[in-house]
Amino acid sequence: MPSSLASTPALAQRLRGVASSPVRDLLALLDRPEVISFAGGLPAPELFDLDGIRAAFDAVLSTGAGRRHLQYAPTEGDRDLRTLVARRMTDRGLPTGPDDLLVTTGSQQALTLLATALLDPGAVVAVEEPTYLAALQCFQLAGARVVPVASDDDGIDPDDLADVLARERVTLLYLVPTFANPTGRTLTAERRAAVAGLAARYGTWVVEDDPYGELRYRGTPVPALAAQPGAADRVVHLGSFSKVVAPGMRLGWLRAPAELRRALTVAKQAADLHTSTVDQAAAAAYLGAADLDAHVRGLCTAYAARRDAMVAALPAALPAGSTWSDPDGGMFVWARLPGGADTADLLRTALAHDVAFVPGAPFHAGPPDRATLRLSFTTNTPDRITEGMARLGRALRP
Ligand code: PMP
Repeated sequence: MPSSLASTPALAQRLRGVASSPVRDLLALLDRPEVISFAGGLPAPELFDLDGIRAAFDAVLSTGAGRRHLQYAPTEGDRDLRTLVARRMTDRGLPTGPDDLLVTTGSQQALTLLATALLDPGAVVAVEEPTYLAALQCFQLAGARVVPVASDDDGIDPDDLADVLARERVTLLYLVPTFANPTGRTLTAERRAAVAGLAARYGTWVVEDDPYGELRYRGTPVPALAAQPGAADRVVHLGSFSKVVAPGMRLGWLRAPAELRRALTVAKQAADLHTSTVDQAAAAAYLGAADLDAHVRGLCTAYAARRDAMVAALPAALPAGSTWSDPDGGMFVWARLPGGADTADLLRTALAHDVAFVPGAPFHAGPPDRATLRLSFTTNTPDRITEGMARLGRALRP
C-alpha cells in the first residue's frame, strides 16, 4: 500500500473538449410551476395516448408470450416492431423492409452508435449551422472536429457545403432536414438532390435525423433525403417515437446500408445488448391496435394552434428589428434579436418574469450568434403561450 493517497483518478481525454453548458444551471430554475417554459423540446404530455399505451403494455404482458417479452432478445430489435415501422416508412415514401432497420434506444443512441462506428479521433463532421445541441456533444465526445456549414430559411446551403467538402476531408454530414431543431427549417427538395449529389461525389456519409417529419401543420411533405437517387449506399435515416408517441419509451430506429448496419449492431451490442424488450413489444402492439396516423393528425391539429399562437405573439413580444422563423411543422421557432443582444443574459431577466427560452449560442458549432434564441411551442396551450409571450415582451422591453 502506498503511504500517501494518490490524487483523484483522471477523466478520459475525450471529455476535455466537451463544454458543459452554463445555461443548464439557469434552466434548473425552470422547475417552478409559475414559470411558463418555452425552453424544453418536450411534447405535450396531455396529448400522450395514455389509455392506448397502457392497453398495449397490458396486452403484451397478459398473453402466453408475456414472459418472452421480459427476456433478453436479439440486438437488431423486435421483428414485429421493425415490420410495422418499415411499413409506415414505405407508406411515407421511403421503401424499407424490416431487415433494413436497427431498433435503437431513442434516436439519440443512433447518434452515439454512428459516432462509434464511423468517427476516429480527429475525423471531420460537417453540420448545418446552427444544429441540434446533443448531436454536437455526441460528435465532440467521439473526438471529432465539427465544421459548420451555412444555412438559411431553406436549410443547409449547398454552395457552402460544396466549399467545405472541397476544403476538408468530411467523414460524415449531419442534418435535420425536416423541421430542424433548433430552427424549424426544412431543406427544399432541390437542395436535397444537391446534397445527395455532393455526398456521392465526395464519398461522405450523411445522417438524416428525422424525429419531427410527421409533425407537419401546412404544406406538402418533401421526400426524405434517404429517398434521393444515389442515396441508398450512404444516407442513414433516423426515426423516433419520441415526438409522435412518447419520449419516455426511448424508442427509435435507424435505416442504414447493410454493411454499416452490421457495424452499428456490433456497437449496440457493446452499448446495451438491445433496447428494452417489453417496450418494443408494447410499441408493436400499440402500432398494431391503435391508429397512429389519426393520433398524429390530432397532434398536428393541436400543435398548429400552438404554433399560430406563438407566431401571432412574436411581433409584439420581440423588439423591433427582430427576425424569426415561421415553421411549417415541428416544435420550434428560432428568433434573432437586433443590436448585439446576448440572449444568455436576457434569460436571467426572462426568468425573473417567469418565462423561459433557450439561448441560441450552444446550438452553434462555429462562433456562436449570441443574439439568437429557441422557443418551443408544443408544451403549452395557446392561452398559456399568449400569456408567456406577453411576459417575454415585458422582459425584453428596454
Ligand atoms: N435528434 C433531434 C434533432 C432531436 O431534437 C432529438 C430530441 N430532442 C433527438 C434526436 C433525440 O430524440 P430521442 O428521444 O429519439 O432520443
